[in-house]
Amino acid sequence: MRGKGAFGPPYFQLWFDFCIIPRKFGINAQLRKNLPRAGSFRRVRGVFRNSDVCASEPIGRNQATDGMRVGIGHDTHRLRPGGPLRLGGIDIPHDRESIGHSDGDALLHAVIDALLGAAALGDVGLMFPDTDPDNRGRDSGEMLTTALEAVSGLGWKIVNIDCIVFAQRPKLLTHRQAIRQRIADILEIEVERVGLQAKTGEGIGLIGNEEAFAAQCVALLEAKEE
Ligand SMILES: [Zn+2]
Repeated sequence: MRGKGAFGPPYFQLWFDFCIIPRKFGINAQLRKNLPRAGSFRRVRGVFRNSDVCASEPIGRNQATDGMRVGIGHDTHRLRPGGPLRLGGIDIPHDRESIGHSDGDALLHAVIDALLGAAALGDVGLMFPDTDPDNRGRDSGEMLTTALEAVSGLGWKIVNIDCIVFAQRPKLLTHRQAIRQRIADILEIEVERVGLQAKTGEGIGLIGNEEAFAAQCVALLEAKEE
């Protein structure tokens, strides 16, 4: 590495040493992963984040530094006569059921999207394509576990999630604690970190007419301590 201050401010020096030089000499991203963690620069220099260094390259295991990330997820599924309604990883007695390639659990799909979105890993459709026959009827709890493993593998842990379910019926109040506990169990976090709100469709539109139900989720991640 060049001497401190050889060309301008220290952040330029690090960018040069860890982005330009490896590119120039064909050092690939895999080799670069073995360089000191970019996050450590921030502690030393006080100005760096991993995303500032080699931002155009795959960052793999080095993604999580001492920062935080927020992600959002949204999902809608059509309803048809039947039951029960799969929601938040549990079966709720109801006279309508979700239509979906997997088990149609819109709430867990929104949670998956929020986690994957926070880690910039795409969404549920990318990870579990509906063209893959293996995903037909698949348990969304298992899908959420897989998504959690991907996010955790990048060095992130969940601070909290907050969810909203949009459904005209059934009333979710009596199922609210069971859903929160089920999601907390899947995510291996305390139930206090799982927020759940419920809204009707005010009797209008696709939600209000019980043609569909929907869910949204926001997730906050932080870097795991090393
Ligand atoms: Zn879905």
